[in-house]
Amino acid sequence: MRNRSIPGSAGRVRALRMLGDPVLHARCEPVTDFGPALSELIEDLFATMYAARGVGLAANQIGVPLRVFVYDCPDDEDVRHLGHLVNPRLTRADEIVLRGPEGCLSLPGIEAGTERYDHAVAEGVDRHGEPLRIEGTGFFARCLQHECDHLEGTVYPDRLTGRRRSRVLRAARRAPWSAAAAADSYV
Ligand code: ZN
Repeated sequence: MRNRSIPGSAGRVRALRMLGDPVLHARCEPVTDFGPALSELIEDLFATMYAARGVGLAANQIGVPLRVFVYDCPDDEDVRHLGHLVNPRLTRADEIVLRGPEGCLSLPGIEAGTERYDHAVAEGVDRHGEPLRIEGTGFFARCLQHECDHLEGTVYPDRLTGRRRSRVLRAARRAPWSAAAAADSYV
């Protein structure tokens, strides 16, 4: 019998940080304290991700500049991947590059065709400091690359060029959430 609580059920829904907020555009710091505060952060990330109907969320998206992300994301075969990763490194990103629709909870309501590798491996540790290796293909590989990018201070518009990039940044400037002056200065 398993009696595990649903991820996020003990967490608080935190305010999401939007494009242009400096915390999204700076590299996150490694986690060194594997105490209860880290478990609380992971619970809050799950609660916030589910409330926003996302498939992945990085800690700096709720204003915490630490190298942690959570995910609950299907791959292209509809296999569900659920978990968290602390201090991840993207150790493999290979096979073909696909341009597919990508969105982000820090740019809600906007989507753009973004190039990503079809296969990715991220290695790090879990909330107790035990080694973890996460491998993904298709949409889940995209998610792993997107979340690892967040922890480097990179958002998906940074990966776009030309008209795709201008279109996303124009949409961001006009979005209701970009009232913050920070978004304007980024765009
Ligand atoms: Zn994102």
